[in-house]
Amino acid sequence: MAERLTRKKRAEEVIRLLHEAFPDACCSLDTDLPERLAIRGILSAQCTDKRVNITASELFGRYPDMEQIDNAPAGDISEVIKPCGLTASKTAAVKDFAHRYQTVWNGRVPDDPDLLMECKGIGRKIANLIIGEIYGIPAIVVDTHCKRVMFRIGLTDNIDPDKVLTDLNKVIPDSEKIAIGHLAVELGRSYCTSRNPDCASCPLSGICRRKIL
Ligand code: SF4
Repeated sequence: MAERLTRKKRAEEVIRLLHEAFPDACCSLDTDLPERLAIRGILSAQCTDKRVNITASELFGRYPDMEQIDNAPAGDISEVIKPCGLTASKTAAVKDFAHRYQTVWNGRVPDDPDLLMECKGIGRKIANLIIGEIYGIPAIVVDTHCKRVMFRIGLTDNIDPDKVLTDLNKVIPDSEKIAIGHLAVELGRSYCTSRNPDCASCPLSGICRRKIL
């Protein structure tokens, strides 16, 4: 219990400092329409958000809605989304999403992560992104930045994303669960990079357990 209390206190301070350092942190994927955000989430596996936004614009320029993506030949979708990599699996996932959206979900993106995860290419991370960004449901997105920085800071002792999520859910209040993912990405891109963390300049250097000074 003492350890948990310690972590909760540390989490409060981490959240405060991160908001101070990154007041404008937000989703770096374009979020114009719910169904389009979901498609961008599918395309984001092992790809930068910048590349996803560019490629998705191209995709939605050619196929503006889910009906058109559902009806398009898979080969044509592949051609457009190829720059995002993992082309075969992402094509199957995009087609599966568009088909479910049209035929099973009655033209509405579900707010239930378990339903979303029935779709190819949507795991817990993307399901949480979707329900958080679209419906404001408190859900933490544990991506590669989040798991790395949270381990270093000391809010988890795990690196497996599901276990990191479980740990963070115990110490991050609901009101911060959407924001913490964005804040972690900002920290991971700026100071707490994978190879050369800049601990000397990092806003969390005063409380991080892994700081390298
Ligand atoms: S002090 Fe260093 S290890 Fe800790 S969060 Fe900052 S950059 Fe990462």
